[in-house]
Formats: sequence, C-alpha cells, structure tokens
Amino acid sequence: MSLSLPRRAALGLPFILLGRRAAAQGAYSQGALVIGRVAPGSRLALDGKPLRVGPGGEYVFGLDRDHGPSATLTVTPPGGRAASQQQHFEVLKRQWKVQRIGGLPPGQVTPDAAALERIQRERAKLAAVRAIDSPLLGFAQGFVLPTQGRVSGVFGSQRILNGEPRMPHYGFDLAVPVGTPLGAIGAGRVTLAEHFFFFGKLVVVDHGHGVNSLYAHCNELQCREGQTVQAGEQIALSGATGRVTGPHLHFGLSWFTTWVDPQAALPPVG
Ligand SMILES: [Zn+2]
Repeated sequence: MSLSLPRRAALGLPFILLGRRAAAQGAYSQGALVIGRVAPGSRLALDGKPLRVGPGGEYVFGLDRDHGPSATLTVTPPGGRAASQQQHFEVLKRQWKVQRIGGLPPGQVTPDAAALERIQRERAKLAAVRAIDSPLLGFAQGFVLPTQGRVSGVFGSQRILNGEPRMPHYGFDLAVPVGTPLGAIGAGRVTLAEHFFFFGKLVVVDHGHGVNSLYAHCNELQCREGQTVQAGEQIALSGATGRVTGPHLHFGLSWFTTWVDPQAALPPVG
C-alpha cells in the first residue's frame, strides 16, 4: 500500500484520508479501518470521544461490523484560530455471509472446567493487550500482507453451529501449509507471543493508537513480547495449533475492542 495518494475528504474539511480505501468508495463502511491526517496539533473526536492525534496529525479509528448508519468527526484546529468543524458521514452497510455448520457433537463446542478457566485467563490477557493506546505510528506507514495464500474464510460471517447463532468470524483466513513464514503487516511492537487454547500459538503486534494485528494457529513463534518489528519482518511460522480443522493463518485486525475487516485494509491477496 502506498500513502502517496492522499485525498481530501468531502466538504472541504481538513481531513486527508490515507490508506487503501482512501481513493475508493467505502472508506466509511462497516468493518473499515479509517486512517487519516489532520493539521498537526488539532484535536479530533469521533462521536464525541477523543481520538489520539500523532505529531504529524495522524489518526485512526475502526467502524464495527454492526456499526449504525452514521458517525460524526469533530476537528478542533490548533491554537484556537478557528472554531471546531464537524463532518457527518454515512457508514455504508455491508452484507455478511452466513456459514451454517450442522451435526457437530455437543461436547465439541463445550470445553471442560479446566479449559474454561484457561480460556477466561487468555481472554483477559488479550483484552488487556488490545486496550493499549500507544503513540506508535506503524498504522500510518502502510501495511503489507502477512503472507500470500488462498482465502478460506472472510471477515464478518455469521456462524450458526447446530442451528445456534455464534460469534461472527472476526478475521480472515489464509489456507497455507504448515511452516509458511508469516510477516508483521506493519511496523510495531510485539505485545503477545503465547500459546492460547482457541488461537493456538499466537502473536499480537501493536501498530499504535489502538491498532493491533493478530496471527493465530502458528506452528512456531519467532518473536518475543516487547520486540520492535518492521513491516514484513518474519515473526512466526504458520501451523494448525489451537482449535482448527486444518492448517491456516487466522488473521485479525482491530482498533481497541473493534474488529475490522483485514481485507479492506491490507493489499489484495493474490
Ligand atoms: Zn479464522
């Protein structure tokens, strides 16, 4: 992805959108990661909640899979030279796939007590890592794919197991053979490198301002927590650890607690 094509957003407001979606339709759609720039020193808020603004005016926010039809950005220029300006924008609704899986043995979806305790602990750890609000600027420097592969699962699918609606699929899957090198999608810092119950061997990288990338089901972790990484730097080998039906990379991208569609933010696969 190149950041050399910044476009001014609608209405002549001082927002410059960066990233893959900037020049395309759907910069503001459900599941989008919106990356942009305002005049350095500006203050910015999304629906009244302050957003972190980088030294060069960099900002980012995510729009939830189930986000409502509109949102509002408010920018307050530096130094009190001008009044705050608001941009109301429509959030495009997307159609999500429905994936029905039937005939599963009930025991397969209900872990035992010991596993449940472990799962709770891991959930808390992942939530703490995803809540980190660091000043890193990797999110504004462009993303690369973690690896090439066949897309075997898309973001947002509603999963129905034995007739019961479960959590949507909050990432995208690339079917790759065990041992495929995986690279960080952008510059950042490794905040988690551990073996989890569902995700298997897992890496999370903080790219700043709440943006996190997640690489699951790895066969081997090749980085450690606290390590600084560059875009494309090898951090793991893919695998089939955790709860999987076959070898693949489950890749997740989030802005704090909001999972976004990686395929809308990363360069195209293939
Ligand atoms: Zn997946």
